[in-house]
Amino acid sequence: MHKGYEKSKKLFAEAKEYIPGGVNSPVRAFKSVGGDPVFITRGEGSKIYDVDGNEYIDYVQSWGPLILGHRHPKVMAALADCLEIGTSFGAPTELEIKMAQMVTKAVPSMELVRMVNSGTEATMSALRLARGFTKRDKIVKFEGCYHGHADFLLIKAGSGALTMGVPDSLGVPQSVAGNTIVAPYNNIDALRKIFQEQGENIAAVIIEPVVGNMGCVPPKEGFLQDLRSLTAEYGTLLIFDEVMTGFRVGYGGAQGRYDITPDLTTLGKVIGGGLPVGAFGGRRDIMECVAPLGPVYQAGTLSGNPLAMTAGMTNLEILSAPGVYEELESKSAMLADGLAQAAEEAGVSCWFNRVGAMFSCFFTSEPVVDYASATTSDTKKFTAWFWKMLEQGSYFAPSQYEAGFMSLAHSEEDINRTIEAARIAYQTAAQ
Ligand code: PLP
Repeated sequence: MHKGYEKSKKLFAEAKEYIPGGVNSPVRAFKSVGGDPVFITRGEGSKIYDVDGNEYIDYVQSWGPLILGHRHPKVMAALADCLEIGTSFGAPTELEIKMAQMVTKAVPSMELVRMVNSGTEATMSALRLARGFTKRDKIVKFEGCYHGHADFLLIKAGSGALTMGVPDSLGVPQSVAGNTIVAPYNNIDALRKIFQEQGENIAAVIIEPVVGNMGCVPPKEGFLQDLRSLTAEYGTLLIFDEVMTGFRVGYGGAQGRYDITPDLTTLGKVIGGGLPVGAFGGRRDIMECVAPLGPVYQAGTLSGNPLAMTAGMTNLEILSAPGVYEELESKSAMLADGLAQAAEEAGVSCWFNRVGAMFSCFFTSEPVVDYASATTSDTKKFTAWFWKMLEQGSYFAPSQYEAGFMSLAHSEEDINRTIEAARIAYQTAAQ
């Protein structure tokens, strides 16, 4: 029995007195589902708990990082040990070498890697590097992809920007936006046309190889391969933004799963295991342009700090064990299949996309392959479904345009409970 939202509502009112919109990142405000967010007190395994005493099975996982679930004992123990040595030195540590070794081994296209503090920093730095290396200014991004909130990437962006209706943010100068070309996802012909017109001036194409930020949208068969050939043909760098997909859709990320070698890769989320982290890396000759080796400047006071490295490495160690991704795959399939069946039984038209441990249920009968098809979703139905799920103890992202995430901590019982709840929630959505 849900205990209501009274204390959360009170805290949200108070938060709004001091914090813009009451939150430190927009989608947390529940604006698109028309209500107040729940305030969380703690997490454990697959569950989070709110201030009113409600328990939720968590499919948000801090928006992706917590693929092991909350408070994994090994991660907690490693962090406790790390606190004995200190939190940050601003000087090199052996931990950073170990982390770089693990990342470059798992993602071989990353011959050299630089740690940063967020996904935004990673993509921003990778693009500066691509521009510095190619001595070209233009970049291409895809409609509905979100790559963090750097000015030149906040154009037709997904995630919170799409949810809040500000895919093109105020404050981005036209002179900056003018160098970003936006292409439709999964459409190689449209991209080829762009390259025929201005390919010689394009420094890089940045892509979510599996999109998570307009909901989960997989690449069409052959799309990533064609993208790889096209960019190579024009001397344009291909950047895989694997902030979400890295160590989630497989240990080698989407590039491992689809067998594509990008020039540069950005990581975040899982590699920090819940602490603030990002990374960018790639071909040695390109990465050698980064300061202090080369003329492309990039820096960070807390980059590579011991706590973040420790959480990240412990996560990667656990994820490297045999069978882990098979387990994530089968749990995710069980949930997605159960949800699809529940939707069908309730007579609600839904389109399901899933790649490994990320998935989305779009409230539309159209196949969702890009931004245009994602936005055919009936967000009113999604909203009704979302609140009914929350009331029954399953916490999904409060927006149609976000992916759901499975963790190793989710049990079959959790998944069955969620499917049972969904049977009712889809009926609510159908009304
Ligand atoms: N790139 C992708 C694909 C993301 O999903 C995100 C965040 O959701 C980012 C970049 C930005 O990462 P951060 O929020 O850590 O700055």
